[in-house]
Amino acid sequence: MLFHNIAIIDAEGETRENMNIRTDGAFIASVEPCENDLSDARKLHKDVYDGTGKLLIPGFFNNHTHVPMTLTRGYGEKLPLADWLVTRIFPFEALLTEEDVYWGSMLGIAEMLRGGTVSFTDMYMRIQGVFRAVMETGIKANLSNGLTGDDTTVLKETAWYRETEQMRRDAKTSNGRVIADASLHAQYTSTVSLVRAIADYARENELHMHVHLSESEAEHENCKALHGKTPTKFFTDLGLFDVPTTVAHAVYIEGEDYDLLLDKGVSLCHAPSSNLKLGSGLADVKSWRDHGLRVTIGTDGAGSNNNLDMIEEVTLASYLAKGLHRDPLLFSTGELLTFATRNGALAQGREDTGLLEPGYRADLVVVDMNAFHFQPMYDYGTNLFTNANASDVALTMVDGRVLYRNGEFATIDIEKVVWNAKRVRDEKLAQLNV
Ligand SMILES: [Zn+2]
Repeated sequence: MLFHNIAIIDAEGETRENMNIRTDGAFIASVEPCENDLSDARKLHKDVYDGTGKLLIPGFFNNHTHVPMTLTRGYGEKLPLADWLVTRIFPFEALLTEEDVYWGSMLGIAEMLRGGTVSFTDMYMRIQGVFRAVMETGIKANLSNGLTGDDTTVLKETAWYRETEQMRRDAKTSNGRVIADASLHAQYTSTVSLVRAIADYARENELHMHVHLSESEAEHENCKALHGKTPTKFFTDLGLFDVPTTVAHAVYIEGEDYDLLLDKGVSLCHAPSSNLKLGSGLADVKSWRDHGLRVTIGTDGAGSNNNLDMIEEVTLASYLAKGLHRDPLLFSTGELLTFATRNGALAQGREDTGLLEPGYRADLVVVDMNAFHFQPMYDYGTNLFTNANASDVALTMVDGRVLYRNGEFATIDIEKVVWNAKRVRDEKLAQLNV
């Protein structure tokens, strides 16, 4: 496919207009200045995309989410967090079957493809349902079940173990699109022995780790009171970060936490919408960056966001940093794009994607800036994280395959997905008697 006469953001973060990007199979073949007109290009290539007024970027990596939570989007809100979880979300989730999780995943993946996400890092349960949706839709994902338990929990006897082992086998059949991760839900939902057990398991099996870290002040301070150390130090001492790890939130990391995370090469996933909506607080992403930590971006689940719109998430990350530091230059467009693309790919262990360069995977997104709300145009790049949102995405390509284009999904029957999501809602509400 040839993207003809399209704008891009180069390695320095500057907009370059009038470019031709050609893909060959699953890879980017060339990135060159456009020197022919559209009719000439159409004579030379069978699949030519007119890039007039459009911006081409690497696709987004949503590095922290719980995709099937689309099923509980907006359910039982207006409650304090603990009540919302205990009285609404946990009872609802307890009833979800693998099939239900599949339909919730299909809905979430549709929303992500529509918004330019090419890969996501997920933590949930009954994850074979998520796997099935990933395989059917063509998106990429690092999938895991979030382990919780206490001192009576024997790792090998848990549903977590069964599902994770199954995912490791399933991932081998996915042509690299699915990576099986290990994940621990959080410090406050586990114990010393459980953290040791999962850390050993991940090391033995060379899995990446995914965990919620210092998301709320209470979680962070309780850990210090109970163990005499921060959650970061607690996990470091128990070996949890001995494998490549992505931590979500990290709102309250402090002091030596920064060096510990840097030493272990841990990636930090910023989820600003969720941090704000749940009243968790403001993560200081500038200090992460200044310490040399790898910054990535995630939407979190649709229970705490409530959408999976990565453009909105990055824009919010940018505006919060500007406000927090009273510096309108935080961050540059190029830096923001790196957070949401290349850094995300590296955090997932995908070296071959996240860059708009020949030889990298054709995981690409086109944002249509012909609409009146981008006019008159001065600079395509600066419009991306100030003005655009998910509905401005015109095309999403994964491994050279167009999965979404102008409102149409190549692999998803969206009406059927929505119908089934409503059916699951009705069935669960009936079972719960609410
Ligand atoms: Zn989360």
